[in-house]
Amino acid sequence: MSEKTVPFSEEQIKEIIEKYPTPFHIYDEKAIRENAKKLYKLFDWVPGGFKNYFAVKACPNPYIMDILKDEGMGADCSSLPELLLSDAVGLEGDDIFFSSNDTPADEYVKAKNLNVIINLDDISHIDYLEKNAGIPEGICFRYNPGPLKEGNVIIGKPEDAKYGFTREQLFEGYKRMKEKGVKHFGLHTMVASNELNWEYFVETAEILLDLVVELTDKLGITFDFINLGGGIGIPYKPEDEPVDLEKVSAGIKKLYEEKIEKAGLHKLKIVMESGRMVMGPYGYLVTKVLHKKETYKTFIGMDASMANLMRPALYGAYHHITVMGKENAPVEGKVDVTGSLCENNDKFAIDRELPKLVPGDILVLHDTGAHGYAMGFNYNGKLRSAELLLKEDGSVVEIRRAETVADYFATLNYPGL
Ligand SMILES: *Cc1c(COP(=O)(O)O)cnc(C)c1O
Repeated sequence: MSEKTVPFSEEQIKEIIEKYPTPFHIYDEKAIRENAKKLYKLFDWVPGGFKNYFAVKACPNPYIMDILKDEGMGADCSSLPELLLSDAVGLEGDDIFFSSNDTPADEYVKAKNLNVIINLDDISHIDYLEKNAGIPEGICFRYNPGPLKEGNVIIGKPEDAKYGFTREQLFEGYKRMKEKGVKHFGLHTMVASNELNWEYFVETAEILLDLVVELTDKLGITFDFINLGGGIGIPYKPEDEPVDLEKVSAGIKKLYEEKIEKAGLHKLKIVMESGRMVMGPYGYLVTKVLHKKETYKTFIGMDASMANLMRPALYGAYHHITVMGKENAPVEGKVDVTGSLCENNDKFAIDRELPKLVPGDILVLHDTGAHGYAMGFNYNGKLRSAELLLKEDGSVVEIRRAETVADYFATLNYPGL
């Protein structure tokens, strides 16, 4: 069970709304920092060191990245703007990981110029990288274990996934990179998304650690790190159990001792690129009821839409809803909570049991800190919301303003707009 609470009172949120109209996403700095510290503490045993590269796509806001940098995190990027954001917050070199796929040349050029860690997704990219950007001093490859490993719901079966090298390609690829003079090597995989089973991450680590030992032995190269990828799930539903990270840490520690230390490779660093577990639970979409509609069902129409939070419509994802001031009110019945897009799947919840709702009620959608604002879009002329930061002292700052109609028309050069 995970308790679903909000980090502000009804009175506080009403004050915030007076200054910043709904809808908006608000992030809880205190909780973000506590969680980051907890993660680092759990892996402080790694002799070679531990680092999480925050997957920027989860919440691409430099003010958030500042906080995470302050807690020791780097950035995991897969596009030029994400690289530029990471550069802007002062991350450099090894603090930035470039885990892209289907990558255009200009992005490799930027990554090489910033001297970040480049994680190749395919063996054909060795030549592409060499031709367009040159061979860097260090390289990482993304491994796809194929039928060796069962995937999960979002990423699917590894052999159907578009990502990564096969096992044979890894051996060939590292050999070629060694011949080209590369000195530093890393090995990466990511085969899960939003996974709650701790064993999954230990098994993934085992695959990588075994491979590192074998590759080191066969090719005579030394690995600086393994990268376990992201994919640590969060308990979106109140009945979900969070990932038991203590078991993940203990499980990997045991394997590290058995395989890595025994082989004398204990300078090996363990890194990951979690995004969801770093930000997901610490963001909230705050939205007001505009209309209540009774037809064959009851529809609660919000001032937010799937343009502000796409996950329910995209994956049927569950986001818990708290009605401010009615936390303990009895359930009135089942309702659909909708947005205003001309798409019938623009619903935050279907048949959700909620208390009696009236226009003006404030609803808080939980767990929107990752892939919430970030997945926003402008379909139907809908504008993206503001992002706010609830600071540790209880004050609130706007870390991104809401879009305006002028922003929406900014790319058009048409008279009268
Ligand atoms: C999305 C992604 C991540 C982050 O995944 P989370 O589920 O947010 O932890 C990390 N690495 C890569 C390559 C990704 O595509």
